[in-house]
Amino acid sequence: VERCLAVDIGGSKMAAAVVREDGVILARSFAPTPRTDQAEDLLSALGGVVAGVREAVGGSMVCGVGCGGPMTNDFVSPLNIPGWRDFPLRDRLSEMVDLPTFVDNDAKALALGEGWLGAAQGERNFLAMVVSTGVGGGIVLDGRLLDGAAGNAGHIGHVVVQPGGRRCSCGGRGCLEAEASGTAIEKTTGGSPADAPPAVVARTGQLVGRAVASVANLLDLRLAVVAGSVALGFGPPFFDAARAELDALARIDFAKGARIVPGGLGADGPLVGAAAVGWRGRRAASAGG
Ligand SMILES: [Zn+2]
Repeated sequence: VERCLAVDIGGSKMAAAVVREDGVILARSFAPTPRTDQAEDLLSALGGVVAGVREAVGGSMVCGVGCGGPMTNDFVSPLNIPGWRDFPLRDRLSEMVDLPTFVDNDAKALALGEGWLGAAQGERNFLAMVVSTGVGGGIVLDGRLLDGAAGNAGHIGHVVVQPGGRRCSCGGRGCLEAEASGTAIEKTTGGSPADAPPAVVARTGQLVGRAVASVANLLDLRLAVVAGSVALGFGPPFFDAARAELDALARIDFAKGARIVPGGLGADGPLVGAAAVGWRGRRAASAGG
């Protein structure tokens, strides 16, 4: 059975795993993302995480990576990792692990993973979202993951949900990420999202539901899978508020009845998704010649 070296890079944590092509995870390793503006220090921390699964890597055919956005093709500039701006992650990691390497946005990776083994199995049209430190998304339409011009399609964190709202790290105002991310909740409540009062939980759900309604209306899809530490940590009160807003705003016939469900892969979602990025990349490369 083939193996993929899967790597997930987020603002607070870096993780690696070896994933079999049936989705079984053979080994895993993680470390906090260093707080540094030095690109090479970040890369060596990542090297340490990958070394943690080295014994299981033997037999891997490909490396797949999910990384915070945005990115321009294979150059990443994650908003949450200021040390990497236009960093050539694919080339540098490929050199390090000596495997064909494919990089994609972490939320697009999650969409692939949820469609493969999670809450969107068998669905040809759905949105997958991550609501954690930041807010990201990936869209599968007509059975295909959307990429867009530079690979950022589905980046729902920067859809405006609150006109004239809070300033966003992207430079805009009132973006979903500026209003509903873990970072935004920390700034407005002065505490961790885990301690957020019920009104903040409900408002966060409402804003996520609002963004999902726009996507459902725009793209003729009726399923949103929502994962990420903030959404899953808030649990049912968050999802109830999101569903109520979605029901209120997705009224056109084809979007009516659209559903919001929690991610089905739990904590493994990002790594399973990263593995799916690896295999998708390899399939595309072999189809292209
Ligand atoms: Zn924004």
